[in-house]
Amino acid sequence: MPYTGRFAPSPTGALHLGTARTALLAWARARAAGGRFLLRIEDLDQPRTVAGAEAAILQDLRWLGLDWDGEPVRQSERAQLYADALERLRREGRAFACSCSRREVEQSASAPHDENGVRYPGTCRQAPLHPGRPLAWRFRMDAPEPLTDLACGPYAGIQDDFVLRRAEGGFNYQMACAVDDLLQGVSEVVRGVDLLGSASRQQALHKALGAPPPLWYHVPLLEGPDGFRLSKRHGSISVAAYREAGWSPQRLGGLLAASLGWAGDGEAMQAAGWIGRVGRPLQPRRVPLDL
Ligand SMILES: [Zn+2]
Repeated sequence: MPYTGRFAPSPTGALHLGTARTALLAWARARAAGGRFLLRIEDLDQPRTVAGAEAAILQDLRWLGLDWDGEPVRQSERAQLYADALERLRREGRAFACSCSRREVEQSASAPHDENGVRYPGTCRQAPLHPGRPLAWRFRMDAPEPLTDLACGPYAGIQDDFVLRRAEGGFNYQMACAVDDLLQGVSEVVRGVDLLGSASRQQALHKALGAPPPLWYHVPLLEGPDGFRLSKRHGSISVAAYREAGWSPQRLGGLLAASLGWAGDGEAMQAAGWIGRVGRPLQPRRVPLDL
């Protein structure tokens, strides 16, 4: 199968350093494999979508030295594809209607809670408890879905009847992401390790829809100097802020490569330089973020 990779940002704000590092990795792995690299704008969460953010993200990616194949697609324009997939899952008994509110699921004593959040306790598996209410659709997941991640190793997976479509009609992230990866022929998903639990859900969806799942490559999250996940309280963490402060893409690319153990401190590395390093293990380390 020819390699197809992708980067799928949400247009909810500026491109941050951690997301930019993931984009560089995803792009470099695709180019090293001689494959395609696609961009997908994950704008299903319309209330959180920020005007102008998509254009700014594309500008930042170009400035970093990335390119992509074809035009970016937008999830907000693909609802019919998700509806078709849901119809297939319903027909084949892999989706069931659920009347539970989010609060009812969260308050259920039998709902398992862990780092993947609250999992559905199975209330409506036989039939909706309150059939008169607006109904969500959930995926019927009968067993944990294990996987072997190329960066993280074996992962036992989780069992969760996650939401495919909410009662108010919007499609859930898991559904849209898996259907898009399937239809776009994505062969490897490179993204942050905070989505490893989603990979288990999405892999089960790929299989239910009759497709081989992609390979998974979940990368560590970029840490601030204090060891915590990089966030706004660490100061200016957007690519645009570094550019406006006079940084070159080579200098920022080198800093991000250094944070993976792929470059020395102060070493410049443009995006193309990442391509020859994709076979190396990830060795995350803290780097000075001195804006
Ligand atoms: Zn329910």
